[in-house]
Amino acid sequence: TISMAVIDKMGHIAVGTSTNGATFKIPGRVGDGPIAGSSSYADDEVGACGATGDGDIMMRFLPCYQVVESMRLGMEPKLAAQDAILRIARKFPDFVGAVFAVNKNGMHAGACHGWTFQYSVKSAEMNDVEVFTVFP
Ligand code: ASP
Repeated sequence: TISMAVIDKMGHIAVGTSTNGATFKIPGRVGDGPIAGSSSYADDEVGACGATGDGDIMMRFLPCYQVVESMRLGMEPKLAAQDAILRIARKFPDFVGAVFAVNKNGMHAGACHGWTFQYSVKSAEMNDVEVFTVFP
């Protein structure tokens, strides 16, 4: 799964997620990828979120919508990401997944459960891409 959020010079924010889906998926399975709010969500006024992991579980929680709405209420990206992951893990302790969050100012963070997650960041001020590792 590849999920990417971008903020342009004008402050417009976009996010998208592409995936080959779950291993051994049944034909016709609709995963979390195309469900707005599940694998991705963005709002210019707030920020964006992307997700990867067990889509059949994650889609029941709309974690990316949750992250953006939490940031809208003032949560920093790290807390918003952790909160969204915890909401899932409380009900599904064996769930494997992760989210990244970025607010409209470019502050970013990730949270994960059941695995170690990495995401990368590149901004105009940075010379190169920086990889961030998030531990459960
Ligand atoms: N979320 C994807 C799915 O369940 C899989 C993944 O993120 O690797 O379709």
